[in-house]
Amino acid sequence: MAEKKDSAKKLKEKLLMQRKNAYHRISDKDLKACDKFCEGYKDFMNKAKIEREAVIYSIDLLKKKGFVEYKEGMKLKAGDKVYRNNRGKAVLAAIIGTSPITEGVRLCAAHIDSPRLDLKQNPLYEDTEMALFKTHYYGGIKKYQWTTIPLALHGVIIKSDGTSIPVNIGEDEKDPVFVVTDLLPHLAAAQMQKPMGKGITGEQLNIVIGSRPFKDDEESGSVKLAIMNILFEKYGITEADFISSELEAVPAFKAKDIGFDRSMIGAYGHDDKVCAYTALMATAECKKPKHTVVTVLTDKEETGSDGNTGLRSAYLEYFVADIAEALGSDARTVLSASECLSADVNAAYDPTFPEVNERNNSAYINHGVVVTKYTGARGKAGTSDASAEFTGRIRRLMDAKDVIWQTGELGKVDEGGGGTVAAYIANLNVDTIDLGVPVLSMHAPYEIVSKVDTYMAFKAFEVFMAD
Ligand code: MN
Ligand code: MN
Repeated sequence: MAEKKDSAKKLKEKLLMQRKNAYHRISDKDLKACDKFCEGYKDFMNKAKIEREAVIYSIDLLKKKGFVEYKEGMKLKAGDKVYRNNRGKAVLAAIIGTSPITEGVRLCAAHIDSPRLDLKQNPLYEDTEMALFKTHYYGGIKKYQWTTIPLALHGVIIKSDGTSIPVNIGEDEKDPVFVVTDLLPHLAAAQMQKPMGKGITGEQLNIVIGSRPFKDDEESGSVKLAIMNILFEKYGITEADFISSELEAVPAFKAKDIGFDRSMIGAYGHDDKVCAYTALMATAECKKPKHTVVTVLTDKEETGSDGNTGLRSAYLEYFVADIAEALGSDARTVLSASECLSADVNAAYDPTFPEVNERNNSAYINHGVVVTKYTGARGKAGTSDASAEFTGRIRRLMDAKDVIWQTGELGKVDEGGGGTVAAYIANLNVDTIDLGVPVLSMHAPYEIVSKVDTYMAFKAFEVFMAD
C-alpha cells in the first residue's frame, strides 16, 4: 500500500480508550483548588456526622449564600434562591433559572444518612453491675466492625413536655466515648469458628456506657440509676424520654488525611456525605443558572428510602410542584423535562480484594468521579438504567468542561450489587444517571475516598448546574 499507515501508538490513541490516573491529567489550578476544597470537606465531616447535623450545616451555609426559606405562595423569579427543611432530616434547595421552567430543572440528589447503631426505644439496662445501651443497627453493616471502636452519640430527645434536646457527646476531646465490646481471642475459640456474618450478632451490639454505682446504695440496679441521674442532670431527661428520641451511635473518629502523600481522606460516613457536600457546595456557589437548579439532600437511603424523609416520599415532587406552580407551570411538565444526577458513592477497586470486581468495569481511586449507567443486582434488578442518549449527553458535558471521570459498576455480575435513589427519581419521568465518588471500605466505620475524586464530583455538579 502506498498510503502511509498510522503507527500503532497513534492508532491506539485514536481508537482505544485510555484509562489514566487523574494526577496525569489534572491542571495545576484544579489540583490547588482540590486540596483547599477537601479541607472544607473534612470540617463538614467532623460537624455533620448524622442527617440532622448535615441539615443544620447545609441551611446555615445556604442562608449565608442568600437562600431564604420557601414559604407557601411565594412569588419566584430568575435568580431567586430558596430552600425547604423537611423535618430537620432532609433539605431541598433551588435556584431559579433564566430559562422557562417548562424546560425542566437540573436536579442533584444525595443522601445524608449513613450506616450506624441506633439506640432502641428502651435502651438503658444494667447487667452484672455495668450499664449498657441496646442498639438496633441502621443500614447495611458488617457487625464485627462496630465492636471495640470509640463511639459518639448524636441525635435528639423529645421530652414529655415536647422540648427537643439535641445530643452530641463523644466528639469533643474532653468528652467520654462509648464502646461495644468483643471477646478476647483467648476465649473466642467457638466465636472464631463461626462465619464472619455470625461472629457478632445484632443483639450483641450493646454499648458500654457506665459502671460506677451510687456509693450509698447497695441495691441492684444502682449503676443504671447513677447513669440515669447523670443524664437527668445533663439533659433533664428521665428514662421514659428515650421512647421519643432518635439517638445514633457513630464512630468518634475525626476525618483525617490518609497516606504519606495525604492524597486520600479517611472518615465516617463518606457514603454519602461526600456527594452531599460536593452537591451542596456546587449549589451554594451556583450563580445565575440557565435552568432552575434543585438539590435534595435526603434521609433514609440506607434503609431503602421509605418514610417521609426518604426519597420514596412525595416531598421532592411537592417541592418541584411548588416551584413549577409559582412559575406558572406544573410538576408533571417540569419533571418530564428535567435531568438528574443521582449522586451516590460507588465501590472503588480494592487491590486487597480484587476477586469481587471485574477490572474493565470497576471504578478506581484517583480516576475521577464515577458515572454509573446502571446499578442493581442480578439481572439489573432495581435499577433505572440511564439511556444511552442521556449517558452520551453527560459524557459530552463532562468532557467539554475538563471533569475527570470514569465509569464503574458495583462489583462483578452476580457478586452482589446495590442501588440508590436514582430509580425513585427516574420513576418521576426524569432522565437520571448515577454519579459519585469511589469509596474504599464502604459502610465500614472508617471509609476512604480520594481527594481528586471528591473534587471532581464537585466540578461535575458545578458543570451540570451551569449547563
Ligand atoms: Mn449511598
Ligand atoms: Mn450506602
